[in-house]
Amino acid sequence: MADYTIGLGNNDSQTRKRADEDYIKFWAEQAKNLYWFEVWHDTLQWNPPFGGWFVGGKLNASYNTLDVIVQKNPTKTALLWEGEGGQSRVVSYNDLWIEVNKFSNVLKSLGVQKGDRITIYLPMVPELLVSMLACARIGDSGSKIVITADGGFRRGTIIKLKEVIDDAISGLDFIQNVIVLEHAKIPVALTSRDKKWPDLMKFASPNCEPEKLESTHPLYILYTSGTTGKPKGVLHGTGGYLTHLYSTFKWIFDIKDSDVYFCTADIGWVTGHSYVAYGPLLHGATQVMYEGAPDFPTPSRMWEIIQKYKVTIFYTTPTALRMFMKFGDGIPNLHDLSSLRLLGTVGEPINPEVWKWYYDIIGKKKSPIVDTWWQTETGGAMITPVPGLETISLKPGSATRPIPGVDIAVVDESGKEVAPETKGYLVIRKPWPGMLLTLYHDDEKYKLVYWSKYKTSYYTGDYAIKDKDGYFWMLGRADDVLKVAGHRLGTAELESGFVSHKAVAESAVCGIPHDVKGEAIIAFLVLRDGYSNSETLKNEIVDHIRNVIGPIALPEQLYFVPRLPKTRSGKIMRRLLKAIAKGDDIGDISTLENEAAVSEVQAAFEEVKLSIKKNQTR
Ligand code: ATP
Ligand code: MG
Repeated sequence: MADYTIGLGNNDSQTRKRADEDYIKFWAEQAKNLYWFEVWHDTLQWNPPFGGWFVGGKLNASYNTLDVIVQKNPTKTALLWEGEGGQSRVVSYNDLWIEVNKFSNVLKSLGVQKGDRITIYLPMVPELLVSMLACARIGDSGSKIVITADGGFRRGTIIKLKEVIDDAISGLDFIQNVIVLEHAKIPVALTSRDKKWPDLMKFASPNCEPEKLESTHPLYILYTSGTTGKPKGVLHGTGGYLTHLYSTFKWIFDIKDSDVYFCTADIGWVTGHSYVAYGPLLHGATQVMYEGAPDFPTPSRMWEIIQKYKVTIFYTTPTALRMFMKFGDGIPNLHDLSSLRLLGTVGEPINPEVWKWYYDIIGKKKSPIVDTWWQTETGGAMITPVPGLETISLKPGSATRPIPGVDIAVVDESGKEVAPETKGYLVIRKPWPGMLLTLYHDDEKYKLVYWSKYKTSYYTGDYAIKDKDGYFWMLGRADDVLKVAGHRLGTAELESGFVSHKAVAESAVCGIPHDVKGEAIIAFLVLRDGYSNSETLKNEIVDHIRNVIGPIALPEQLYFVPRLPKTRSGKIMRRLLKAIAKGDDIGDISTLENEAAVSEVQAAFEEVKLSIKKNQTR
């Protein structure tokens, strides 16, 4: 078996030991890596289930991500921005600092005050970061001002952002101003409420004192991906959240001054907030920011970018990887990927097959993979290898162990920790610094969603297993667990079985009621390039499942579909497949990326249903 032991020069056993001894003291030590205007009096105020970290402490997120870096190294490159069409911009920390100061003054001149809310609707451009950090500088949390652009680029077309905003806010009298960035250079209708970005910035002063904000001051509100169809408005604070990100970014990515980091996440999702905006900037890292779609104009777009900027750390999603795999090895093999030294993944369980492909073909067997498990609610990574801290032997498909200072377990229905190798629910047993403050304007829902199944542990909603070595394996969402003939099966276990067949690029399974088995498994499969739908292939795949998982996992039906329905953050929406299969209402699909996928799945489903009927009547 291949040896996947990693450790990037560090083997610090002390950190984990200190964390185990006293997690509160440990996080206080970590918080000292940030710049505080005033030191906290209480490291943790825990009024279950509400936590406040570093209470009494005062700091500013924009000061920590910009001023602190600029004082040491003003010319350091912050952003290597790449547009979809190949345009590029280089932005230094000093450039970013000036822009953020000016924009903070612009917001103030428009009457924005500490505690006001601002809506940002921008493409992946440097001004998006400028806007976020300016809000953080003056103490805003997230709507009387809207910041947008004329348009943004996606798959070669221009999305008219200003028009979308005009529609969205028509009749909303409380919106005082809309700030419009000229990015796509398309004509837009402007009223007296609308202000052009350059007009506002022209005379803005480049000095804006950062507000000294309470550690528990809200930094932003962000909605979860909506995989379950019920996005939740997660509210994050400042001091705890930044501490979590400072530490995890260093531990996970072992960041060095010379690194070129590239995270493919959109800033609109939590990965973009935590590991594009705050984590890298807190460390003065240089990163690539890319505006367009990962496979546009060609499937080699990501590899071109890695080659062009000599990217050393690449952080993406299993969904993206499965798509790249579908196109075959030839495409990445045409590019020089030798600069890469570390690979990351987040968002869904990564199938062992995909993990190995990433390791072999992209990392050329020399770059370790950090599979990072976390949620919008956790703020930062929770279960992940930490090569910047310690050596660990990786296992393809496992996110490995919790980071130091957090307490995570797998429990049964009653909340009791299960024996190793037993499936159960993933819970977090102690407060952690990146934890959400609450759900925006809904403390009751916060209690209900996360703290009602188990009173003293945070319920993640994920199904998992901890093996004998203490490694965690994510089996999928608890809501999606299938109950077949008395066995509980996580979606990830089954889907990894399908994806390990050479013809299968992507798979999604769900259960439908069955008289005998309780639930029957149905699978929706996307084939790799070069394979096509046939009965022989179907039978071959079913045999494969029998071999790799066992007869219990045999699907009742297989459907070949061109695409799977996914959220905009790239996660498979299994609940939609289930609704289609059961003939239920498909519910809210506002977070869906590709609406066409729904009708494609419906069509595949109908086709199979009809052919079953035909066979029955024969
Ligand atoms: P919603 O809660 O609205 O349904 P969501 O849970 O998809 O949306 P996120 O907070 O973006 O929204 O995603 C967190 C979830 O993603 C986790 O609970 C888990 O199910 C999954 N996840 C994230 N990273 C990993 C990983 N490395 N391995 C396995 N699963 C992961
Ligand atoms: Mg969730």
